[in-house]
Amino acid sequence: MKEPVLIKPDGTRLDGRKPDELRPIKMEVGVLEKSDGSAYLEHGGTRVFAAVFGPKEMHPKHLALPSRAVLRLRYHMASFSVEDRKTLGMTRREIELSKVIREALESVIFLEEFPRSSIDVFAEIVQADGGTRCAAITASSLALADAGIPMLDLLPGVASGKIGGKVVLDLSELEDKYGEADMPVAISPRLDAALLFQLNGRLSLKEFDEAWELARQGCSKIYEMQRNALKNRYETYKPEEET
Ligand code: ADP
Repeated sequence: MKEPVLIKPDGTRLDGRKPDELRPIKMEVGVLEKSDGSAYLEHGGTRVFAAVFGPKEMHPKHLALPSRAVLRLRYHMASFSVEDRKTLGMTRREIELSKVIREALESVIFLEEFPRSSIDVFAEIVQADGGTRCAAITASSLALADAGIPMLDLLPGVASGKIGGKVVLDLSELEDKYGEADMPVAISPRLDAALLFQLNGRLSLKEFDEAWELARQGCSKIYEMQRNALKNRYETYKPEEET
């Protein structure tokens, strides 16, 4: 495929967005019945289900920690999530992303409240179109909250970066592939800290400041959506739903 021109003469992107615009986002909490907490997120063309099991007694027992719960997280892309069918098993990329997503979420969970326990999180990408690690973080933190796990904060994630010489928010797969830089981050507004921060490509210091500011604003917007998704679930929640 010939390299596409990512920024049109009028300054907009191929999908019509302005540089600082997020893709359309929809999220819903409590979408799966067999897990303790769950969430579904559509972030542009990227779609992810997150399911949480626990806290529960750790198996195998020798992996239990006396002072806190162990968080186990599996980030996985379904083989039908991409155009060329992906291998069924876990790839090196998925193993690495599972680790960085787990480390980001560990910072917002009160793990010490559940010694000798495990909390298992599954983030299943059912459709991939860029930004899947950030979408997995946004959805997993919602599912953890839905499971009633005490947390310091919800964690929103989004990437910013540089395409066609311009600093932009929320890269699609095409923009990620043909752009100059991709910077996925997850920022906790309450901790005022980036719990995931990665950068692929090159940015000048000025561009970095701009990209950081866009990512910060993007995370704040997604954070508000996360809070609303939880409110929507629990303002209409009736306990008899559980019987
Ligand atoms: P992220 O999804 O967090 O942006 P990457 O930068 O590694 O992570 O991937 C960018 C995009 O490339 C993904 O969102 C997905 O759309 C696509 N992609 C990743 N891995 C594969 C794969 N094995 N096959 C096809 N497309 C893939």
